[in-house]
Amino acid sequence: MSESIPQRFSDLVTLRRRVADWRRAGERVVLVPTMGALHEGHLALVAEGRRIGRRVVASIFVNPTQFGPNEDFSRYPRDLEADLALLARAGADAAWTPAAEIMYPPGFSTRIDVSGLTEGLCGPCRPGHFSGVATVVTKLLNQVVPDVALFGEKDFQQLRVIQQAVADLDLAVEIRGVPTVREADGLALSSRNRYLSPEERAAAPRLHAVLAEIAAGTRGGMPVAGPLAEGRAALEAAGFHVQYLAVCDARTLEPVERANGPARVLVAAFLGRTRLIDNVAVREAF
Ligand code: AMP
Repeated sequence: MSESIPQRFSDLVTLRRRVADWRRAGERVVLVPTMGALHEGHLALVAEGRRIGRRVVASIFVNPTQFGPNEDFSRYPRDLEADLALLARAGADAAWTPAAEIMYPPGFSTRIDVSGLTEGLCGPCRPGHFSGVATVVTKLLNQVVPDVALFGEKDFQQLRVIQQAVADLDLAVEIRGVPTVREADGLALSSRNRYLSPEERAAAPRLHAVLAEIAAGTRGGMPVAGPLAEGRAALEAAGFHVQYLAVCDARTLEPVERANGPARVLVAAFLGRTRLIDNVAVREAF
């Protein structure tokens, strides 16, 4: 594994030139988009990138347009030096770290809106969020021009939204999901876990445990209503404020009454001020 510091690019022309050189040399380029505050979940994406490609570009950009007015944009953790050191350890070749003015110059006026997939789950809880995500990811794909881009299944709705946007817009890139990396106690790694107090951190693994119970209880086409009600009660009893808890078709993300095909249990819940999301497969998703 290479330990050299990835080359940092803040200028689009220079980045494009480098990636074009790689592609001309027949090297498969993989993009891993992130908002920084990197952890082992992000590094698993980089590791997967190295497995399937020759060059890995990790982007670091805290995208203001995907945060709501009352969300944590200003306090979102930022530590570029630590991130670059982690990317070096993971063997990334390049870090694309555009300034906000490069992403959104004065007069910027275009947005990508994906309908359908964004109507449920996090969509209504975070108005404008997926539009911000789809727009910035489309820009990142057009800036870097990778062969493949990797996204975590941790943000399952985001993964599906991006797959849809890329298909709809005929973008010449393959979008792949990477399984969620968890702490030993089941808590999905997230940059936001650092907001949790010790008491909240102690309660947090219950989220994944409840999802796993629901997945087990709804396997084989069993009705989902009972396990969902029990799961919601268990989470509220553990101190969570549940925003949504649902079993959905893994492709359309529409709620199902029975998981007869590939399905996913998805949740968003607050522990104190911290919003956590997670999901698990009921059956192997596509
Ligand atoms: P973020 O920096 O939170 O925007 O995440 C960047 C990418 O890392 C997204 O594709 C996330 O889905 C992915 N990711 C975040 N946490 C995890 C995790 N625990 N396991 C796998 N992928 C993750």
